Amino acid sequence: MKLATAMSRLGTETAFEVLAKAKALEAKGHDVVHLEIGEPDFDTPANVIEAGIRALRDGQTHYGPSAGLPALREAIAAEISATRGIPVDAANVVVCPGGKPIIFFSILALVDPGDEVIYPNPGFPIYESMINYVGGKAVPIRIREDRGFNFDVDELLSLLNDKTKLVILNSPANPTGGVASAEDITAVADALRERDVMVLSDEIYSRILYEGEHRSIAAEAGMREKTIILDGFSKTYAMTGWRLGYGVMPAPLAEQVARLQTNSNSCTASFTQIAGIEALTGDQSEANAMVEEFLRRRDVIVDGLNEIPGFRCHRPKGSFYVFPNVEGTGKTSKWLEQNLLERAGVAALSGTAFGAEGQGYLRFSYANSVENIQTALGRIRDFLAAEA
Ligand code: PLP
Repeated sequence: MKLATAMSRLGTETAFEVLAKAKALEAKGHDVVHLEIGEPDFDTPANVIEAGIRALRDGQTHYGPSAGLPALREAIAAEISATRGIPVDAANVVVCPGGKPIIFFSILALVDPGDEVIYPNPGFPIYESMINYVGGKAVPIRIREDRGFNFDVDELLSLLNDKTKLVILNSPANPTGGVASAEDITAVADALRERDVMVLSDEIYSRILYEGEHRSIAAEAGMREKTIILDGFSKTYAMTGWRLGYGVMPAPLAEQVARLQTNSNSCTASFTQIAGIEALTGDQSEANAMVEEFLRRRDVIVDGLNEIPGFRCHRPKGSFYVFPNVEGTGKTSKWLEQNLLERAGVAALSGTAFGAEGQGYLRFSYANSVENIQTALGRIRDFLAAEA
């Protein structure tokens, strides 16, 4: 079998590979603390589960419109209007099975071979993978620890040229937890406003924010027409397995993205979408309680990592990841990923899983209990002390 050439350019998400390795070790009797996978350990809020079950019983088990059920598109439009402070209506919304397809579809819809796409590095690995897959030129913008895990706006501006087609932003960020400042967002908008460039603003962690208000570049003057907002239910409502996310974009692009959906998924599961309406419009107390618990865990893991010789950990303002610098241990990121898993029973990811600029870092997801986080910290400390 000879695969299409483009397949050799497609990347992957290592988190799933490390999870599989950890599960295989567990099957052999090892005890592993899971800090590798980016999903809340909480259950989906009870009111949302009930709405999903009710929808199944009510016969919401058929195909629906490719762009999503009108009632959910309207609820999303209302949510984005309120939280981003911009006028949005249902025609701007495409509902997908997760937020990830919005990355896939936006890049397929906008990027021709040779077009340049600026993307965060370290960043969510699917950006680079998909840019390469379509034959675009992946242009990394370095996410810098010394700027609280933000990029340098001047550096971003220096990367723009006539071939730049798309700029991908992600705040709050995976894998660093970095949150873009209002000044940086305005400066990027000022640079892009007059250019023929689109922005994919991945805001999937918009509600997992510990300080200040979430800001979207779509709210900057003249940017609504140039921005695709990616958001969804996976992280905010602990709904990773339901597969429900969305993009908010100019209506003509939404039609094209819906057409890509007709050609691939057909539509998103109908009962999942009904549950999504309840998630957005129903009781928010469980979603809010999750953020409070994440904040408590963030402080436990940041303080604990900073006590480990060779680790230096910034205190992130959002998402549920920390990205400690581990250069001081004298080990590579990949060595630490492998040895912490196999010999210390702690599953974490090498920073290089998020791009070349992740060398010298590890990513820990703190979507796990305080007790398990403390166990992991103790194991890392003891393991490195024994290695020294
Ligand atoms: N964007 C970022 C930055 C993410 O971290 C993730 C999930 O890990 C996604 C998008 C995709 O989310 P979903 O599970 O809703 O497809």
